[in-house]
Amino acid sequence: MSAKIQVNQLQKSYGTNEVLKGLDLTVQENEVVVMIGPSGSGKSTFLRTLNKLEEPTAGQIIVDGHDLNDAKINMNHVREKIGMVFQHFNLFNNLTVGENVMLSPVELGKLNKQDAKVEAKDLLKRVGLEDKFDANPKSLSGGQKQRVAIARTLAMKPDMILFDEPTSALDPEMVGDVLAVMKDLAKDGMTMIVVTHEMGFAKEVADRVIFMADGYIMEEGTPNEIFSNPQNKRTKEFLNKVL
Ligand code: ADP
Ligand code: MG
Repeated sequence: MSAKIQVNQLQKSYGTNEVLKGLDLTVQENEVVVMIGPSGSGKSTFLRTLNKLEEPTAGQIIVDGHDLNDAKINMNHVREKIGMVFQHFNLFNNLTVGENVMLSPVELGKLNKQDAKVEAKDLLKRVGLEDKFDANPKSLSGGQKQRVAIARTLAMKPDMILFDEPTSALDPEMVGDVLAVMKDLAKDGMTMIVVTHEMGFAKEVADRVIFMADGYIMEEGTPNEIFSNPQNKRTKEFLNKVL
């Protein structure tokens, strides 16, 4: 195993609002890390610093051996390796489902249209939507849209995927299909950081659960350690509210 992500004393402030106050985290290749914590604790901010959608105030982030503070690194290359899946999927409604999945590899010159189409069909099959290649995104349910968004992310052949509450905007009956796709990815060895309130998913799929609050990682451990025997008072309070 080797470290995919190493974070040292990461800090992020917005003006006087200290959101991240010194985070240390190492994520190994093939590891699935689930991040839980109250709203406003900085989970999204943290994910966004990992591919420089946010600039840290202090600290170090090393992705696949690349120090993001190094002015010489090619951030576009680093970003291509880090997929991101958000709560809101932002598909292009003027394109078909298939075209949405093909778009980035073609625009970035990774694949010609022919190959991208074959690949997109394959990926849509993987997320259970092989019959939706020619559909308009508007005709899909939220859960289907999110699965297209995952296929679109996979089309870039990422080394790791960051999920920021991927099922929070979905009707309850759509959640399971999306989680099943994520579970498959985990089984196939994808390195993943998943911010979610789906504790069942965390228990079943996470190698490690991280509890964030007040700008710190308050506690981390195996799902069993965190859910069955939390040590930190804040972790206990949080779990009492959500479980
Ligand atoms: P979480 O994802 O855990 O709910 P966030 O990372 O979204 O938490 O937010 C943490 C804090 O950072 C909140 O106080 C939020 O208001 C603040 N924040 C997040 N993004 C910005 C931004 N772009 N500008 C200013 N403040 C922000
Ligand atoms: Mg968030």
